Amino acid sequence: MQERQTKQKQIIYDALKTLDHPTATEVYGYVHDLFPKVSRATVFRVLGGFATAGKAIELRMAGSEVRYDYNVYPHCHARCVLCGKLSDVEVQGLPSEGLRASTCNGFEVEGYAVEFHGKCRECKSVALS
Ligand SMILES: [Zn+2]
Ligand SMILES: [Zn+2]
Repeated sequence: MQERQTKQKQIIYDALKTLDHPTATEVYGYVHDLFPKVSRATVFRVLGGFATAGKAIELRMAGSEVRYDYNVYPHCHARCVLCGKLSDVEVQGLPSEGLRASTCNGFEVEGYAVEFHGKCRECKSVALS
């Protein structure tokens, strides 16, 4: 039992790396192809566990399902407006301690996402051809 759980976790973690900022549904699709016995609930639970344990980040972006990122180092993302793909981007000029909201009107901040948008390499080349 224990061993099976460890293996499932490993596969789900591999999916995060392979799929590049996937949603939980995409992770489930990937894992399910390899191991049809793994349930959707297990995938969601394991992903939540990764986030709690600091092994992955939950990316909450407006108008989008939560995405998961195995790269837990603070970084920003660019989203393709055509296909929705997220890419890691390096940003100049961000304070190393991160951004802080000073007036929140009682809002309790849990995190933030800086998102750039544009067209990814693939979509750009399609548009040009
Ligand atoms: Zn694209
Ligand atoms: Zn990322």
